[in-house]
Amino acid sequence: MTKHVLVTGASRGIGAAIACRLAAADRHIWINYRSSESDAESVAVEIRARGFEASILHFDVSDRAGCKSVLEAFAEEYGGFDVIVNNAGITADAPFPGMEDEQWDSVMQTSLGGFYNVLRPLVMPMIRKRWGRIVNMTSIAALHGNRGQTNYAAAKAGVIGATKSLARELASRGICVNAVAPGFIDTEMSEHISRDIIRQSVPMGRAGSVQEVAEVVSFLCSDGASYVTGEVINVSGGII
Ligand code: NAP
Repeated sequence: MTKHVLVTGASRGIGAAIACRLAAADRHIWINYRSSESDAESVAVEIRARGFEASILHFDVSDRAGCKSVLEAFAEEYGGFDVIVNNAGITADAPFPGMEDEQWDSVMQTSLGGFYNVLRPLVMPMIRKRWGRIVNMTSIAALHGNRGQTNYAAAKAGVIGATKSLARELASRGICVNAVAPGFIDTEMSEHISRDIIRQSVPMGRAGSVQEVAEVVSFLCSDGASYVTGEVINVSGGII
């Protein structure tokens, strides 16, 4: 049986690397994107070129009604997803006294709202399968805090609490729910951070690659991770 795999925010960066890493003969990879259709299609083309199945799926994880409509229709047609990686995320940094309502709301609605908006329509179909893997992308900012990122750290900390709670709810159903907390990873999101800051703050002295995050996600989505649930795995070059 083909397993349906959803990776949100997979048009570039960490999500694109996860989509490529999860591709396999018995899997159909669904590449979610919000705005960059051509980038999402390029990821699908790359996967298909390796002989695996991939399609793009448009929705905005912060739009509750939009997620419900697309994902319920998907579940109706395909019976739901076997693997879900909630990766889509944004930053909108500002020192807290100067933070705008929109900066707070958009970051909360994407990371924490996205958790609810994507998983709420998809959990019941996954329970019916009695097997599943859910991986939620958080950040070491959730564990340490970060200047200028009260919104982002709060949203990502919320994702950790939600991950641990859902893991307990689904543990008896063969569904593992875990979170991955990257440190500094080389993507568009982190390109404004100076190499000096990264050298000073990361014990390994370098940023991580998207493939290094994808490897860990791949393990958590595998059969081999069947006794791992409710965990937060740092992929941070030694920032603990
Ligand atoms: P990125 O390069 O900025 O890519 C973000 C992806 O998310 C894009 O594909 C974007 O798609 C998608 N996205 C954003 N908002 C969305 C929405 N509302 N609905 C659907 N898709 C949406 O970011 P990244 O560095 O790969 O980060 C991926 C995840 O890792 C995020 O959750 C981020 O918080 C987390 N993380 C990253 C780092 C890092 O150093 N890079 C560190 C810790 C955690 P469109 O372009 O189509 O909008």
